[in-house]
Amino acid sequence: VNTAAYGTAKKSLGTRRGLNSKFVPPVMNREEEASGGSGAVNMEGMDEDKLRGIEPKMVELIMNEIMDSGPGMTWDDVAGLEFAKKTIKEIVVWPMLRPDIFTGLRGPPKGLLLFGPPGTGKTLIGKCIASQSKSTFFCISASSLTSKWVGEGEKMVRALFAVARASQPAVIFIDEIDSLLTQRTDGENEASRRIKTEFLDGASTSSDDRILVIGATNRPQEIDEAARRRFVKRLYIPLPEAEARQTIITNLLRQQAHTLTNSQLPTICQRTEGFSGADMATLCREAALGPIRDMSFGDIENISADQVRPITFVDFEEALQNVRPSVSDRDLDVYLEWNKTFGSGS
Ligand code: ADP
Repeated sequence: VNTAAYGTAKKSLGTRRGLNSKFVPPVMNREEEASGGSGAVNMEGMDEDKLRGIEPKMVELIMNEIMDSGPGMTWDDVAGLEFAKKTIKEIVVWPMLRPDIFTGLRGPPKGLLLFGPPGTGKTLIGKCIASQSKSTFFCISASSLTSKWVGEGEKMVRALFAVARASQPAVIFIDEIDSLLTQRTDGENEASRRIKTEFLDGASTSSDDRILVIGATNRPQEIDEAARRRFVKRLYIPLPEAEARQTIITNLLRQQAHTLTNSQLPTICQRTEGFSGADMATLCREAALGPIRDMSFGDIENISADQVRPITFVDFEEALQNVRPSVSDRDLDVYLEWNKTFGSGS
């Protein structure tokens, strides 16, 4: 497998079309019809042998909708979470970069579960792992397997693992994994059961494959035992501490004019105890609207961008009246309890 080609394959996805590709999408768009283009997906750098038996239409769907070639990320983009970041670097990123050193006992786990409240950076971490381990990143929400691709979910999962195998090293990030691996008592419908089986089969990849499956969930307690065993490493991704909240605000304000002083920033952080990273982002967005709300409609139409006044501490105080933490203490207790029983240390 030619790893050097991954970067090119990723960047050109969906933009440049490969001339030699056998893959033709089921429906051409007007532009392609007009230009007489083949409309095929660029398979550069992929091991096409691994795609045998998979419908080209499915491969196309996965490459266009699930393969993510977003901007590269670094660990500094994820505020706080030092324990999780350190663990992930050791057990996942380095082994994916240097499979020759990390073999046998040092081999990476095939499954990593990130659990904790919503909006705490689980998806960010997934992207960062892919970016830092120079892997192809596939990102899918488990609930879309049953809702968006009705009746096709099982095929989709099979195709997803095949495409990942063909473009390894790969990271498959599955959000809301609980909806796929839940312990249903009765009434588990046939389609969901088959998707789950397909997933558990796919997730147990051979030890030669460099594929990491990351599951993310806000409801770890709903995952059944068989599924739990597939995720050998289970890391708690908690709410951000005050320091991490400050980093999040500082990063978000970097591109904005503001007058927050070094003493006002910590004050905001003290008042946001219990906020998730996503809540912090909502708060900053709300505060950023303060200067705009002070204007009349006529001003908004005519003012030049550099005349908009900077965001102030008062804007944050007002935003704090409207934005509340989205996670309750009771929810937090559930995570802590589950972490004690099933988590991989902290
Ligand atoms: P989830 O844990 O639900 O996957 P995400 O990773 O999607 O949460 O985070 C949602 C948004 O919240 C991010 O896009 C980012 O703006 C912000 N955020 C959450 N946690 C962090 C964090 N630890 N560092 C920086 N930003 C964060």
